[in-house]
Amino acid sequence: MKISLQAELGDFQNRGTIYTFALKMSFLAVTLSSAVIVLVLPVVGWLGLLPIPLAHALLYGVVFSWLIGGLVSGSLALLAGHAMHQLSVSRAEFERLSRTDMLSGLLNRRAFTEALSCADEGACLAIFDVDRFKAINDRFGHACGDAVIVAVSATLATSFGGSSVAARLGGEEFGVIVAGSKRDERIARVRLVCAELAEHPVCAEGCSIGITVSAGIAEFAPGRSKEAVYSSADKALYLAKALGRNRVVHEEDGLQSRFRHLAEKAAPEPDYPTAKNAG
Ligand code: GH3
Ligand code: MG
Ligand code: MG
Repeated sequence: MKISLQAELGDFQNRGTIYTFALKMSFLAVTLSSAVIVLVLPVVGWLGLLPIPLAHALLYGVVFSWLIGGLVSGSLALLAGHAMHQLSVSRAEFERLSRTDMLSGLLNRRAFTEALSCADEGACLAIFDVDRFKAINDRFGHACGDAVIVAVSATLATSFGGSSVAARLGGEEFGVIVAGSKRDERIARVRLVCAELAEHPVCAEGCSIGITVSAGIAEFAPGRSKEAVYSSADKALYLAKALGRNRVVHEEDGLQSRFRHLAEKAAPEPDYPTAKNAG
């Protein structure tokens, strides 16, 4: 009973479901009260306490329990149903807000950490970071900086639809779980998005703001922890910055000897949190 009630409660954003449920409950209550009247009145009659014949008493009892009881319990059930519907809708909205980044409209870090835990083979993690963003804030102002974040978010959202997941991890840093069966295609998609962002200046407050973005990529694999993937993508991003920014680095690029000295130096900076502390 508890389980089925919980299952139905899950559907309470749907008015039809909740009112049907409330009316069913009210119908059950009135049927039960009629049954009690039919069982109790003969005993009351047998004790000689009925002022009218038993048949009349039964008829009035059942009719009134359906008319008055049905009306009252039906109205109360509908009122309770309305309150539950409102509660269910506001709970869903609250849940949505708790998973959404307010500035960008993308998922926030908390929701992204959840999505990361479900990610598997056939996808990679790309961490994007706007280059020299502090300088954009300093030169054009904070509102323009915000406009850049919104524009980058919109591009990521449209470029990575379907089963990919895009989120703002904080500041001007974004995480995307890029879905797609072929590794090279996934990398090409990330490169394309970075190129697109670099090609289209952001227009805000009468200014045209040219931006570039760096990205680090790491692969999900069976048996590989999500923390390891995150940390590797983070190191690849660090490498992209160290190599001059405006580029995409795959974790395997860091293994190449010409980059190894940089990759070895690469340690997560405070700005690049690991999945562990992503809250
Ligand atoms: P790098 O190329 O190495 O990534 O340098 P950067 O300047 O982009 O990175 P840094 O970490 O030095 O600066 C990030 C700045 O982003 C600092 C912070 O004030 C700003 N910032 C963080 N969150 C927001 C935000 O929500 N809106 C705006 N406008 N700025 C933000
Ligand atoms: Mg940056
Ligand atoms: Mg950053």
